[in-house]
Amino acid sequence: MKITKLPIDTGLSSWNEVLPLLPPARILEQNIKADWLVIGAGFAGLAATRRLTQLQHGDKIVLIDACRVGQGPAGRNSGFMIDLPHDLSSDNYSGADQADRDEIFLNRTAILFAQQAAEDAELEQGIFNPCGKVNAAATAKGNKHLQDYQKHLTALDEDCSTLDERQMRALTGTSFYNSGLVTPGTAIIQPAAYVRGIASHLSSKIDFYENTPAVAVEKSANSYLVKTPKGSIQTAKIILAVNGHVQSFGFFKQQLMHVFTYASTTRRLTEDEMFKLGGENIWNIIPADPMGTTVRRITGKLFGGDRIVVRNRFTYDPSMQIDQNRLKEIANSHRKSFNARFPMLKHVEMEYCWGGRLCLSRNNVPAFGEVDENIYSAACQNGLGTTKGTLSGMLAAELAADCKSNLLEFYLKQKPPQKLVPEPFMSMGAKSVLKFKEWQAGVEL
Ligand SMILES: Cc1cc2nc3c(=O)[nH]c(=O)nc-3n(C[C@H](O)[C@H](O)[C@H](O)COP(=O)(O)OP(=O)(O)OC[C@H]3O[C@@H](n4cnc5c(N)ncnc54)[C@H](O)[C@@H]3O)c2cc1C
Repeated sequence: MKITKLPIDTGLSSWNEVLPLLPPARILEQNIKADWLVIGAGFAGLAATRRLTQLQHGDKIVLIDACRVGQGPAGRNSGFMIDLPHDLSSDNYSGADQADRDEIFLNRTAILFAQQAAEDAELEQGIFNPCGKVNAAATAKGNKHLQDYQKHLTALDEDCSTLDERQMRALTGTSFYNSGLVTPGTAIIQPAAYVRGIASHLSSKIDFYENTPAVAVEKSANSYLVKTPKGSIQTAKIILAVNGHVQSFGFFKQQLMHVFTYASTTRRLTEDEMFKLGGENIWNIIPADPMGTTVRRITGKLFGGDRIVVRNRFTYDPSMQIDQNRLKEIANSHRKSFNARFPMLKHVEMEYCWGGRLCLSRNNVPAFGEVDENIYSAACQNGLGTTKGTLSGMLAAELAADCKSNLLEFYLKQKPPQKLVPEPFMSMGAKSVLKFKEWQAGVEL
């Protein structure tokens, strides 16, 4: 099996860039043997590796990534590890009741696993922060979304509280928002610092190679030979934690949708600018409309000082690649969203703008399970990879290690990703739906 496509990450994410330079990458430059090979060092790969170290103590575990840790989507997301239903394709994030309860349970299991990983790795305070999030509305329609969401959460016995216009202004400094809904179960991370810290901690127990893409996989009697540009790994079992790139390995063809989303971060705000803005110096906002704008106000050394991060827009890109021209176009859209929220900071430049891959399925399920003899997939996180990637990685390790649990049994009962309609109809349909939903989001964008 030849790997047809390797990951390309366009634009530099501030989360990674503001951190100290990494030491030079350890690249695989020989032929080695391992009991386990995990491919991909994002949330899924790190969780799978950690779970294997717990279950298969003493085994030789190798983790490889095509890039540097923190450079890929795991280090370029907005850092919301959300516990509640968050279906990007629905109108209000949530689906049916029992399915929601199950999803909350699964998400919280993942967040706890991530929290324990952060504690074991002794990550600096602020990298993993179980502080909750605020869903914020800017329009009457958005406000109605929040009210419906609140009713739904109350019916599920979930804790939440509202913020009025004045309280939203006291929090954020802007009068853009008319209401907010606080949900306390979300953990907020500095994503690049989190994945770097977890990978560094795991490196004392396993062999971790970066800038080491898997370029071919050959099957022999009892093992696989995974080739990399300068070496190879002979291994009994493989966990594919490469999200949408699982398709580049030949699996889940015609079942996965490849979408990009984008973020920009301001340069450091000056004292004067912070005074003009007002509000608190840390807050984390998810838009009331799933197509709206996520905003984070960040502060401290780990974040490169006082800044604001905005994330919005989704594009359908089955090639799994975007170019700099796309970023230029998106940067304009970020500017508009930023200016609408922070007219007092209109002159503040964006220092970073980047895009990153998401992988979705039509029926909002993961691409999970044993996909060939002793090859396991922990992919397709449906836009919530900090949480769902962690869960699928953890459970893929349990499946591969033959460790039975009710959770795994439940997870395996999910349907496989639905087939997509053939091209060019799929792209035409997906692009029109995204455009329409973004238009519908209106001012929330
Ligand atoms: C701007 C933005 C904002 C986002 N915000 C959020 C958010 O707030 N909350 C949330 O939950 N999610 C968010 N996401 C989505 C989240 O980042 C992804 O869902 C998550 O990173 C997926 O985790 P993963 O481990 O499955 O895959 P990835 O993080 O994509 O990791 C897969 C790894 O596999 C490696 N790889 C691929 N092919 C090969 C190969 N052949 N050989 C070796 N390595 C390979 C890649 O280099 C990559 O490092 C956001 C994404 C973006 C872009």
